[in-house]
Amino acid sequence: MTEAYVYVDFGAVRIQQYLTRTPGLRGHRAASNSLARATADASIEGLLGGLAEVNPEAGKADGVVSVRFPAAGTADRSEREQRVRQVQDGVFAHLRKALPGAEFASVWGEGESYLAVHAQVLQPKLRTGRVRHDLPPVAEFPLAVPCRMCHTDPAAGSEPVPEGRLALCLDCSMRNVSRRETVTDPRSPEGQLLEDIGLKPAPEDFASLAALGTAATGRNHLATVAVDGNAFGAFFTALADEGSREVELSKAKGTVSEALSAATRTALADAALDLSLAMEVERLCLVPHVVGGDDVLVSLPAEQAWRFTLTFLQEFEHRVSEATADTLDTLNRLRTGRGLDELEAPTASAGVVFAHASHPLNLLVESAGQRLSEAKRAYGGRRASVQWLDITADGPEAPAHPPLELSVLRTGDGRETATAAALSQLVTVPASHLARLTEALHGSGPLTAAALAHRVGHLDAVRPFLPPLDQLDRPGQEPVCGVGLGAALNLARWWPCA
Ligand SMILES: [Zn+2]
Repeated sequence: MTEAYVYVDFGAVRIQQYLTRTPGLRGHRAASNSLARATADASIEGLLGGLAEVNPEAGKADGVVSVRFPAAGTADRSEREQRVRQVQDGVFAHLRKALPGAEFASVWGEGESYLAVHAQVLQPKLRTGRVRHDLPPVAEFPLAVPCRMCHTDPAAGSEPVPEGRLALCLDCSMRNVSRRETVTDPRSPEGQLLEDIGLKPAPEDFASLAALGTAATGRNHLATVAVDGNAFGAFFTALADEGSREVELSKAKGTVSEALSAATRTALADAALDLSLAMEVERLCLVPHVVGGDDVLVSLPAEQAWRFTLTFLQEFEHRVSEATADTLDTLNRLRTGRGLDELEAPTASAGVVFAHASHPLNLLVESAGQRLSEAKRAYGGRRASVQWLDITADGPEAPAHPPLELSVLRTGDGRETATAAALSQLVTVPASHLARLTEALHGSGPLTAAALAHRVGHLDAVRPFLPPLDQLDRPGQEPVCGVGLGAALNLARWWPCA
């Protein structure tokens, strides 16, 4: 009989919005550092005072704390509830002090493995809002001046900032104090990545990050990339369900969260190192804002975004399928025996948003999240996919082109798809011609665009994105390579040149 534990989880609510609520990159980094410090195992262990321990079965994710204590250590349910409350009081007070403006939530449940409790108790509680919240304190004086940095919370005092003196809330004051620290905390997402790849740190602000780009792209555009796993919920639930029947699986339950966090971290390091720019300037060319279990948010120069996104998604898929292969085999053997569908290895999807480096990050984070949802929705949240938006060219509204499956764009290791090869060909067409093609396409349709391309001698570059030429005048025909000319011209704006 395995010992039962009471598991208590804590998480920052809408962590991406919270971290990006101040305008500057330095403020985000300071909040990110504070969060890493506050949620580090050693900090949490130190304040639990023997009431609980850091949960060794949970994977690492930014802004998440998981602790546990043996259920047998308490006499009955009411004593367990009381202990949970004590633990929550302690952890909430500690997190509040470190991150004054964040919102936290906590859930708890008991059972013999974290994975099962997470899938069967904690997740349902989170979904239905049966959580304990901890909110920032409300203003003591209703007429207090609003904070001049985040414009969200009331100011608590005024203090010197690089631009002069400002009335700041407690949270912005925390972000301001940490500004003087030049070192990135090694436990923060950026610090971990630097440790993994051993390059010099990324630039100090968004304008300098964008300036790392090549002259041809204007050196003033950034991409925000949001990534999230597909079908992890189904995988974990199946593992929790079957795990109680099979010894082999119950071992996997204890290690799989950790293995998936590691897959995310490795894929991020691989994708960061794979950027041609990183090698050229010998420094980290992206800023990771959040790195969770299967969840990543980064900013990087616009022209590097496709390379990063495709490498990350491919590497992630590869690492996850390696880490879950044996478990999936066993799971599927049990499932088919009981007449259930076979499960596939989880993958990830991405939302990519291009904009001028001065565009507020909180809006980009929101837009990247929406594109990510569109990509997932288009493929039932089961297959690796991507949706993107170029705000400078097309405005902030939802894009007109449909999301694409990763398998269409796959690149690298000699596995370049026909579409990826055709895009590389398309970007060799001068930008002014591409602009005229876009105009012709939007104005009078593919027939005119094809005629124009023929006239200027670029029909070959355009042909894969059109239906077979003898069917051009019939509506509803599929393009040769699966991606329409409109989407291709849009992709070509930031597609890597060979
Ligand atoms: Zn503020």
